[in-house]
Amino acid sequence: MKTNIDKFRRFLKRTFSVELFVGLGVVLREMLKKNSNHTMFYPMEKVNIDARYRGVHKLLRLAESGNERCIGCGLCEKICVSNCIAMDTKLGEDGRKKVINYSINLGRCVYCGLCADVCPELAIVHGGDYEFASEQRAYYGFKEDFLTNIKDLKEQKEFEGYGALPNDADFKVKLTPTTYIKKDQEND
Ligand code: SF4
Ligand code: SF4
Repeated sequence: MKTNIDKFRRFLKRTFSVELFVGLGVVLREMLKKNSNHTMFYPMEKVNIDARYRGVHKLLRLAESGNERCIGCGLCEKICVSNCIAMDTKLGEDGRKKVINYSINLGRCVYCGLCADVCPELAIVHGGDYEFASEQRAYYGFKEDFLTNIKDLKEQKEFEGYGALPNDADFKVKLTPTTYIKKDQEND
């Protein structure tokens, strides 16, 4: 067991060792540098987020029709490693499945990107939004928070965030089933 004298000796050694002055030298050098700025004045200044940053999710619409891309297949809900996606669906009058509720518990989400990866309709992507603190957890994570507002459809970015595809994503979504049908016809 170390005595108090040992501890004092260690204190002296650490305090007056060369490393201390090397460290102080680095700090002094940076302080005296012109235009040296290592601190961002958040929230006045914001970090530039890369397109592949996995921020808060977005649910996209089809650019032409404005319809929601999500078809309620439930794959994202199934694959989610944190079990934080919950959705309710019902059959619409036109016989198509409609997503009536879609929520992501952002407090549990680990932003792994699997939901965006698995989505067959390119409906869910990760945006670059990282500011989502709130007084109330309930303020976040519902369908209306993620879904592109119909008024902002023109501003909806197709290539935004992880899992998103380029500008021709609408075309690719439509192409996929047609391609399968054509292949089936060719094989018949
Ligand atoms: S990013 Fe990962 S943890 Fe978050 S909702 Fe998607 S699958 Fe779940
Ligand atoms: S995987 Fe895509 S289409 Fe399927 S429910 Fe999730 S967001 Fe909707």
